[in-house]
Amino acid sequence: MLTNDQLAHWDRESFFHPSTHLSQFARGEAPQRIITGGEGVFITDRDGNRLLDGFAGLYCVNAGYGRRQITDAIAKQAHELAYYHSYAGHGTEASITLSKMVMDRAPEGMARVYFGLGGSDANETNIKLVWYYNNIRGLPQKKKIISRWRGYHGSGLVSGSLTGLELFHKKFDLPLSQVVHTEAPFYYRRPDPAMTEADFTAWLLAKLEETIAREGADTIAAFIGEPVLGTGGIVPPPVGYWQGVQEILKRHDILLIVDEVITGFGRLGTMFGSQHYGLQPDLITIAKGLTSAYAPLSGSIVGTKMWDVLCQGTDENGVFGHGWTYSAHPIGAAAGVANLKLIDELGLVENAGKVGAYLRRAMTDAVGDHPNVGEIRGEGMLCAVELTSDRATRASFDPMGSVAPKVAGEMLKRGVIARAMPQADMLGFAPPLCLTTDEADQIARVTGEALRATLG
Ligand code: PMP
Repeated sequence: MLTNDQLAHWDRESFFHPSTHLSQFARGEAPQRIITGGEGVFITDRDGNRLLDGFAGLYCVNAGYGRRQITDAIAKQAHELAYYHSYAGHGTEASITLSKMVMDRAPEGMARVYFGLGGSDANETNIKLVWYYNNIRGLPQKKKIISRWRGYHGSGLVSGSLTGLELFHKKFDLPLSQVVHTEAPFYYRRPDPAMTEADFTAWLLAKLEETIAREGADTIAAFIGEPVLGTGGIVPPPVGYWQGVQEILKRHDILLIVDEVITGFGRLGTMFGSQHYGLQPDLITIAKGLTSAYAPLSGSIVGTKMWDVLCQGTDENGVFGHGWTYSAHPIGAAAGVANLKLIDELGLVENAGKVGAYLRRAMTDAVGDHPNVGEIRGEGMLCAVELTSDRATRASFDPMGSVAPKVAGEMLKRGVIARAMPQADMLGFAPPLCLTTDEADQIARVTGEALRATLG
């Protein structure tokens, strides 16, 4: 067996880690953690630690770790047929069954699901579908996409452009010119503290109207958003936001892409976030919870309105020229089928709603009075603790984002994984949907201990 030192050395010498400080890592100055196993909401590492994963990997292991129903389905599929493509009408029992299961669960008005590998490529697909759609409709100038600051939609060229976080743009020559960003629906960071939530929504909608007027509605194809902002801070929208946005988009013939990579398959206590907020999407992005990350798989669920035009496009132009080798990979599809069955059998959607609300109450009891806690928010099985150097002024720490990693580090020492959200004074929680109230209590208690250890 390889020693930890040997692995750590190879890791530093060979492995280009995503979203990592490259030089610090290479010099051995950044954390290295080698994960070996998982069971329920816990993972274990090579140093023998057992950690409660309060972030479900990257908001993705929704069913929890170590689920034999899913791993058995993967093994069976791998033995029978590890791969075949899905071009030109090919499929497998797993991929066809999964498409039916996804469509049975999708919100009203959706027609088909296109499978990819991860959330980023699914959003690349979405933007290509939108452009194709408007070309077929004879509107070649209607191509821009409106996204929100603080939105997260991936790390590709278009998907990274849609993402509204500077870290993912700086020095990468992004965003591409076809992407326009509008204001983030983040009430805690409202421009004027005197604004009520309703005032703030009205302000956001006016900004969106301004953006559309400035760019010209005839140049704007689509608007993309997560039902609840994820990596940008786990922020539920202010009251009336989605209703207002949808009304504006309809009026200007702008498509709605709902990125449900985090919220799809139960995280908000409903199968989709679209159902939670009464959204009528033209396209839905899915990934993560589709397989609970047991295998890479994503999808674009296409609404009827677009589907009909895409079909017309192939009547006029021939085969639809967009495909990945691994679209609807049989192993991913088998994982997806087993995972969606398990979510139903265990009642995980309902559990996410109930225990998620319990977690926020427990968190409020544990840290709500702490002078550096500005806000505790969330929806379903999502929770964020907003930290501030001054509760009255909502001021950031100096430099911003310097404190949350320290608190998360203290939590890790106490056996709980929280995520210090990128470049922000926030701790994020997105545990597996099977979390129990006892485990929620453990997260809240450890957050309190770590906060006091870091900030007094
Ligand atoms: N959209 C959302 C809402 C996400 O949270 C993520 C990933 N965190 C993505 C897209 C990108 O997915 P992936 O990392 O699988 O490419």
